[in-house]
Amino acid sequence: MIVHNCVLDEINRQLQTYLAQEPEALACPCQQCRNDIIALAANRLPARYTASTEGRLLAGFELQSKQVQLDVFKVIIQATRQVNSAPRHDPHRQITP
Ligand SMILES: [Zn+2]
Repeated sequence: MIVHNCVLDEINRQLQTYLAQEPEALACPCQQCRNDIIALAANRLPARYTASTEGRLLAGFELQSKQVQLDVFKVIIQATRQVNSAPRHDPHRQITP
């Protein structure tokens, strides 16, 4: 089993839910913009690495706490705003969502 950052899972999960509920929150739906949000959010949150199945379950359990969920969500909102104001994708390329 490889070393795994459980916070990344949580960011991915919440970002998907967030964009499913509010598709207009993200100005551009391309993969680059989504990846940028995940990277920005992950840099602002403490990583939670695990290297075992048990550790992964435990970290998953911690990540379900309301406070942690809220912290992750706040960071996702900030990162989405940042990407909206300065997207890194090529403005001339074809967008395939
Ligand atoms: Zn984009």
